[in-house]
Amino acid sequence: MKKILIIGAGGVGQVVAHKCAQLPTVFSDITLASRTESKCLSIAKQIKDNYDITINTAAVDADNVTELAMLIRDVNPFMVINVALPYQDLTIMDACLKTGVHYLDTANYEPLDTAKFEYKWQWDYQKKFQDAGLMALLGSGFDPGATNMFTAYIAKHYFDEIQYLDIIDINGGDHGYPFATNFNPEINIREVTAPCRHWENGEFITTSAMSKQQQFTCPEGVGTFDIYRLYHEELESLTKHFPSLKRAQFWMSFGESYLKHLEVLNNVGMTGIDAVEYNGQKIVPIQFLKALLPDPSTLGPRTHGKTCIGCVVKGLKDGKEKTVYVYNIKDHQDCYKEVNSQAVSYTTGVPAMIGAKLMMEEQWLKPGVWNMEQLDPDPFMDAMNHYGLPFKVIEQPEFDLE
Ligand code: NDP
Repeated sequence: MKKILIIGAGGVGQVVAHKCAQLPTVFSDITLASRTESKCLSIAKQIKDNYDITINTAAVDADNVTELAMLIRDVNPFMVINVALPYQDLTIMDACLKTGVHYLDTANYEPLDTAKFEYKWQWDYQKKFQDAGLMALLGSGFDPGATNMFTAYIAKHYFDEIQYLDIIDINGGDHGYPFATNFNPEINIREVTAPCRHWENGEFITTSAMSKQQQFTCPEGVGTFDIYRLYHEELESLTKHFPSLKRAQFWMSFGESYLKHLEVLNNVGMTGIDAVEYNGQKIVPIQFLKALLPDPSTLGPRTHGKTCIGCVVKGLKDGKEKTVYVYNIKDHQDCYKEVNSQAVSYTTGVPAMIGAKLMMEEQWLKPGVWNMEQLDPDPFMDAMNHYGLPFKVIEQPEFDLE
């Protein structure tokens, strides 16, 4: 019976709060804090209405370590689940060290003024967390998160050596808007407009954003989609922790309308992250754009269709080449019925809850800063089947990827 503090009351925070509230024997006392407390209060009301459970709420500026430390001391949780934005990762880790509590997030640190994300900043906290006897679990969402676990699980149970990895993230959902993003628009647009990097023969190769494309047909009739190669943060940790990988790539599906809008917004400078002067005021174009776009947490009722996210791994078993595909399919409307949210937030929030549960139950608890694949995948995969994200494995699938 341990207390938990969730920071961030956006699309993902809402799912984490619901999923933790569904397990009162593990998460007996929940506090949800964010910059805008009214968002926490509205989630708290949903949880009261759905499960007759009262959660506490608070306002906090997670850029401010002193303010965070005061809140953490006041709540006195076992750990913090950080589902604010990647910009807050280091301040929240600092506050956890200051107050002696464990830490979990779903996205790696990114400085506000540079569109660049890498694990170095958080890996540099390894000694501090080890010395303090505290654990920091990095990237416990779906991708990163479940995709790291899929890779580790396949490597553990199906191969002697894994050599080729393709992570395929398909969102076959339609929200009916000409252009909207399924998670924080600023983070999403920074991610997809960044130069692509993929791992090949011992190094990362850089190519222009979305310059490589192919088609992928999902299992179980989800559909056939155009997928584009992107850089994604789990490639950095997976290639480090599985040095036998000769190639690792990440693919995401995009519809025509999304790409058309993104191209125009890019061309006119609306995705820029440097401030421009307008009528004596400094405005960051991408932040202004975020203010105009639909809030991802409002997409739940109008999104129909399914997500299909998985990993295709090729390698050697008993000296023979083989291929294994592991994936989860999730229906947007099923998620909305369960937790008032669409599947992109759901597929991120459930692994965050599972990671926290495994830490709280001390199945995964060890001092230091860890990526998911450094931990035993079996209890996590078992929990995916129990808490809403069942997975399937196809050995020797019929498709072949470039
Ligand atoms: P949202 O923008 O919907 O929510 C972010 C929340 O964080 C908002 O409630 C916001 O408050 C709050 N916040 C922002 N800045 C601060 C601050 N300084 N102090 C306190 N609270 C703050 O984002 P999502 O819920 O879509 O995403 C949450 C996280 O999940 C992001 O880091 C994202 O990158 C990650 N993610 C990970 C995925 C994965 O699979 N691993 C997939 C999707 C998302 P306010 O409302 O006041 O702005």
